[in-house]
Amino acid sequence: MLDFNPNDIAVPNGHFIDGTLVAGNGDTLPVRRPSDNQVYADLPIASAEVVDRAVMSAQRTFRTTSWASGAPRERARILRRWADLIEANGVELAQLEALGSTRPVKDVIAVDIPYSADCIRFFAEYADKLGGEVAATRSDHLGLVIAEPYGVVAAIAPWNFPITQATTKIGPALAAGNAVVLKPSEMTPFSMLRLAELAIEAGMPPGIFNIVQGTGAVTGDALCRHPAVGKISFTGSTRTGAAIMAASAESGVKPLTLELGGKSPQLVFADVPDLDKVARSVANSILGNAGQVCVAGSRLIVQRGAEAELVDRIAALARAVRPGPTWSSDTSYAPIISTPQLDRIDGIVRRTIGEGGEAVIGGRRLAAIQDGAFYEPTILARVSSDMEAVREEIFGPVLTVQAFDDEEEGVSLAAHPVYGLAAGVHTGDISKALRAVRAIKAGTVWVNRYGRTTDYVIPTGGYNSSGIGKDLGRQAVEANLRFKSVLIDFAG
Ligand code: NAD
Repeated sequence: MLDFNPNDIAVPNGHFIDGTLVAGNGDTLPVRRPSDNQVYADLPIASAEVVDRAVMSAQRTFRTTSWASGAPRERARILRRWADLIEANGVELAQLEALGSTRPVKDVIAVDIPYSADCIRFFAEYADKLGGEVAATRSDHLGLVIAEPYGVVAAIAPWNFPITQATTKIGPALAAGNAVVLKPSEMTPFSMLRLAELAIEAGMPPGIFNIVQGTGAVTGDALCRHPAVGKISFTGSTRTGAAIMAASAESGVKPLTLELGGKSPQLVFADVPDLDKVARSVANSILGNAGQVCVAGSRLIVQRGAEAELVDRIAALARAVRPGPTWSSDTSYAPIISTPQLDRIDGIVRRTIGEGGEAVIGGRRLAAIQDGAFYEPTILARVSSDMEAVREEIFGPVLTVQAFDDEEEGVSLAAHPVYGLAAGVHTGDISKALRAVRAIKAGTVWVNRYGRTTDYVIPTGGYNSSGIGKDLGRQAVEANLRFKSVLIDFAG
């Protein structure tokens, strides 16, 4: 049984600097469990002074230990040991993660922990593979392009998959030889502290991976503006990404990787050979983590003829979800992260129905489970592209449905004026699929499937306001390196 009593869990708290937990000494923030809305801890908010301590510790360790200057394979060995320890402590980590987030414990154990450990292993393998290159130049010159780490990378993570989102950012930064200061989301701050302790156990030099806790406005902003930060790696909303760009510009023009919001379409043609498979794909993409997924396939664009049958099958899958607290192994449907976010989802749905939209299923809060924040799986039909539910990233279990007649209309409906994170295309015709792949302006297009896999080698990142740069893949390691050009004249 994976079930646990949330009140039995010892929650580590504080910042993590120089290899140890550091208690806060200023303002705090109450942290609630989404499953039952109970406050279970008070989070210290790192002031600019605490942030400075963490960044300077990271810089000192980067400069004085062999993390960056020693043999890269030693760094890789430590990262692999860290991954092994994460798996070995999987149940403890999963309980901590499930306790305060929207992630059901069963999913954390089956997916999030192995995904995170393997993600670190994947990046560890790059530690000694991207040293730079010899440039083609005249034969009495030697041209070198030398890859070097930035020094201190600031990583800022969202709440929706706390461990996996953080390890996705930390893995490539550390493998490239940087030190990292992480600020987790203030809504899901604790599980990463245990991972940081395990990094020390794995042999990582204390100070190479520090954590500061707190709000975006105080702690996150101070971290991004710190002069010793060489690069910022951010995952979160487009609005925060823009604020971080401004902070970076005002404090030293730091390079950024931004993984931002989305409003991704699932374009389904009537010629799909297996409508059940498509229904599962669409349902999973909007019901997983109750739609609180950056790449949620939240806009179904379906060819008339397949529309009624497909919506029926998705609705049947949506009715079968089992909402419940994240600490119950029976739960298959996550709570919403907070009551304000629940209100926001409901507000968008209400206003869209007010504008003429129709709730095929759902459209309401779910009867409270132990005061938790739950929203019914919702399908909205009779919507148009200018309606709020189709335009805005809802970050909840709300699927809008728009029908089209021909390919041109389908591709045009799939376009979004702001976002371009991901898209799904479902068809039995490979030429049609490839035309859609070319036409859709998004960082990732999945064909006849939907969602990220453990193919870490495939980079992820958005077009347009969905982001800048890539996480995952070789590109993520390169994004944590800078390249020094050297030209040597040895003609004599
Ligand atoms: P958010 O932007 O509210 O917060 C993300 C992080 O930024 C938090 O740690 C927060 O404290 C911090 N922050 C807030 N203001 C800041 C500031 N001024 N300076 C520095 N840091 C600041 O996002 P969220 O609600 O935690 O996450 C949901 C959003 O994240 C959605 O828009 C979702 O699409 C996006 N997301 C994107 C991806 C991706 O891969 N593209 C993955 C997961 C989530």
